[in-house]
Amino acid sequence: MTQPLWSPLPARPNIRAMKVTVDPVACEANAVCVRLVPQVFSIHEDEEGEDVLAIAGDGEVPAEYADGVRDAVTRCPKMALTLDG
Ligand code: SF4
Repeated sequence: MTQPLWSPLPARPNIRAMKVTVDPVACEANAVCVRLVPQVFSIHEDEEGEDVLAIAGDGEVPAEYADGVRDAVTRCPKMALTLDG
C-alpha cells in the first residue's frame, strides 16, 4: 500500500478559540462591525428601546470569521471591541 503524499494536520486541542467581547459603555451601536461581519455582530433593542450590540455564540469566533472580526476590532471607531486569543 502506498502512502499518500500528504496527510491532514493533526488536531491541535491546545489552541484556544478566539473570543471577542464588547465594552457596552464605549459602544455607540453605530453598526460598523455589523456591516463588516453580520454573521457575528448584530444590533438589537434592549428593554429600554436602546440599540445595543449583540455578539453571536457568546463571543466565540468561528475560524472562518476570524479575519473579519480582527478587521472589525481595528475599525471600531469607539475601540469598544476586545479580542482574546
Ligand atoms: S463598531 Fe464599535 S461602536 Fe460600532 S457597534 Fe461595533 S462595537 Fe459598537
